Amino acid sequence: METTHKVENESYSPPDRSFEGPNLNAYYAYTESLQNLGEALNKETKANSEFKIIKGENSKVKNIAKSSFAIPIDQSNIQASKEIKDLIQFIKASPTSYHAGEASRRLCVEQNGFTELKENQPWKIVCGGKYFVSRDISTFIAFVMPTNKPESACILGAHTDSPGLKLKPEPNKKVDNASLLCPEIYGGPILPSWLGQGLGLAGRITYLNNKKEKECSLIDFEKTIAVIPYLAIHLERTQKEKVEINAQDHLPAVCWLQTEEDSPFNLEVELKKLVPISKLLSHELFFVPRGEPEIINGQLLHSQRLDNLLGTHASLCALLDSQTPEEGQIKAVICWDHEEVGSNSQNGASSNFLDSVLTRMSNASGLNLEEVAILKANSGLISIDVAHGRHPNYFGKHEPNNAPLLGKGPVIKHHASQSYATTSPTSAWIKQAGIQCNIPIQEFCIKSDTLCGSTIGNIAAPRLGIRTVDIGAPIWGMHAMKETGTLVDHLYMCRLLKELLSMNLSSNI
Ligand SMILES: [Zn+2]
Repeated sequence: METTHKVENESYSPPDRSFEGPNLNAYYAYTESLQNLGEALNKETKANSEFKIIKGENSKVKNIAKSSFAIPIDQSNIQASKEIKDLIQFIKASPTSYHAGEASRRLCVEQNGFTELKENQPWKIVCGGKYFVSRDISTFIAFVMPTNKPESACILGAHTDSPGLKLKPEPNKKVDNASLLCPEIYGGPILPSWLGQGLGLAGRITYLNNKKEKECSLIDFEKTIAVIPYLAIHLERTQKEKVEINAQDHLPAVCWLQTEEDSPFNLEVELKKLVPISKLLSHELFFVPRGEPEIINGQLLHSQRLDNLLGTHASLCALLDSQTPEEGQIKAVICWDHEEVGSNSQNGASSNFLDSVLTRMSNASGLNLEEVAILKANSGLISIDVAHGRHPNYFGKHEPNNAPLLGKGPVIKHHASQSYATTSPTSAWIKQAGIQCNIPIQEFCIKSDTLCGSTIGNIAAPRLGIRTVDIGAPIWGMHAMKETGTLVDHLYMCRLLKELLSMNLSSNI
């Protein structure tokens, strides 16, 4: 049975999307010479785009452009830019992956005229058309078809979920006079950052309404509803050195102290205050941080869910800012759920979703099997997720020569064992785009004695066989309840992705 989705929080209405881009015109005077350098390198790169075998110590590698220049930053303009204002709204509207999917749908379908396609219905696709498909709300793809038969696709990929605390199916618990809600751990959050903070509650629920019909609603209580109190230092002195948290015993959050007149806190009763529920059937609810994203001194962005609403929002910005169809090339944004728990689900990067959509859009465009294979071979996937910026208090935790800095631009992520899917040609693709649009690019690899993380790139790439690169904005405190990045890196990323969408892939990777 198809379930209808209602959204209780109607407060997000994205601004008009003219996407003027960051106000960097003032910087062009400084970068004119660098632009000339970029153009020269670009010509050389195009002229040498054929694969060459270079031998001997005196050989020169000509195909790879160097892009380690920086654009002077006028911080006062960045905070007022449309991208940053819209990012703040997007984060506020997206306390969970479901809300992020719904906010993205509204942005594309309701604000920008994309046609919504359903996976369980036949598709009609026309040249130059703009489409949006979602799977289970939190995973979606938005794409712009070319003006003629598609021969390649430039795909921006990100994820909509973040690590955190998800309520158990039967979450209610009572100890003494305290009513608590019990969570499971979702992904790999830094648990101490969730202690001692006011927590909200958001997610989705399925229920029978007053007419006994099944409905699904997105929920955001939009108030502080619980807290996981610290244990006092006097009761466990070892906390001075280390806070030990038992996930079963120490994470239930206190919601309510029962008095003689009142009953204990009950989730279903609280939900009935928001939605006309006759019977709650199921829920996927998360504790969520309270408070709005904070901008510190016009530079730093301190907020929940930077991992990976930064990537989701930058991808959408780039696509909506370049909606004019290309010749022969599909432009697409795909955002998966469940990255933080390994991507191995029907909504994750290891699912058939992207492959299925590519196949269906190819079929609808009249491509035969041979042409679909050629299209995939000509295509590229840019996996966008946050990167570790060098922490000033933990200098030694980073690889000395490959430690990106906050405020210095998007980061290409490398790993010899392919935890990141980047290769030298796909890395060069990003650097070439950086040169073309005057965006500085940084490099990251983990210290050799440290385990490397991974993201959607190396999970989607094997299934699709599409060339892939992993990039991201540098942040501090990845997986803390609130993380820290910069405004300028987000603007850089929006501009870089827009440039990448306009590059012809069949001759550029
Ligand atoms: Zn991530």
